[in-house]
Amino acid sequence: MKRNKSEEKEIALERIKILFEEARRSEKYADRYVELARKIAMKLKVKMPSELKRRFCRHCNSYLRPGKNSRIRASRGKLISYCFKCKKYSRFVYHKNRL
Ligand SMILES: [Zn+2]
Repeated sequence: MKRNKSEEKEIALERIKILFEEARRSEKYADRYVELARKIAMKLKVKMPSELKRRFCRHCNSYLRPGKNSRIRASRGKLISYCFKCKKYSRFVYHKNRL
């Protein structure tokens, strides 16, 4: 049976979510899971859901644990996370009242 593109993407997204769940649980391999999830997203051109996007550092693929290896703060409708590992900032826009 051949899968069509949208089915492939659906499966990829499921796998990405599972990988993030694993990353949350495993301190040791968290960064590895993030890297894998990003590779899947890139390969199948799946858009990473925003709630997952803010969970890792896009500069070094670290799984961010606020208070542990990162700091997160909100400012003017944006979330700004600071990664302790690569010492870089990532910004995320809040989509609260907008589409
Ligand atoms: Zn980083």
